[in-house]
Amino acid sequence: MIKIKHSAIIILLIIVQSVSAQQHEINSESLVKLLDGNLRFTSGSSIHGNQSLDRVKEVVKGQHPFAIIVGCSDSRVPPEVVFDQGVGDLFVIRTAGNLVDDIAMGSIEYAVEHLHVPLIMVLGHEKCGAVDAALHGGEAPGQIQKLIDKIKPAVDATASLPGDKLDNAVINNIKRIVDQLKHSKPIIEEFLHHKKINIVGARYDLDEGKVTLVD
Ligand SMILES: [Zn+2]
Repeated sequence: MIKIKHSAIIILLIIVQSVSAQQHEINSESLVKLLDGNLRFTSGSSIHGNQSLDRVKEVVKGQHPFAIIVGCSDSRVPPEVVFDQGVGDLFVIRTAGNLVDDIAMGSIEYAVEHLHVPLIMVLGHEKCGAVDAALHGGEAPGQIQKLIDKIKPAVDATASLPGDKLDNAVINNIKRIVDQLKHSKPIIEEFLHHKKINIVGARYDLDEGKVTLVD
């Protein structure tokens, strides 16, 4: 009897490990797809897949994007282009400074919970104007000040670091938003806990068009 129980535990462990590995694979697969697409883009060999009218018709019945991109509104960083993706591939949220407010969070939660998208990438970029505005301080008109206030902690946290002040703040801002997402209750934190999603930060290089993961 004890032997049977022992075997059952081992089988259960194998199943759990297998499911976990599978989930990890699913998450990695999305990341590999993004990075492969960026490699095609930077090497001038974009294939512009899923951009035909046939694809438009194919996804009428439903969308199954493989990644959520939380990017900056900056016109130089269009996710579908820099990752060489097409219609129905990416679920994109774009705000200046790639910030996440309640509405953006709701959009992300919808994609995670309802569309089962397994990867969230926070995509900041070189020479981000929103981060630069926060770096230079001062009062901004209208709602722009809210953006600056949200980015200011990243500027303050990196003020004493050596190197490029703007880039340091850009990286810190990416990490903060990744952290914000990882601790967002109840949906994202729970999906993360069950290894159903992966959240990564990345920086886009304006000169080369290259996306590099941020640890
Ligand atoms: Zn920007």
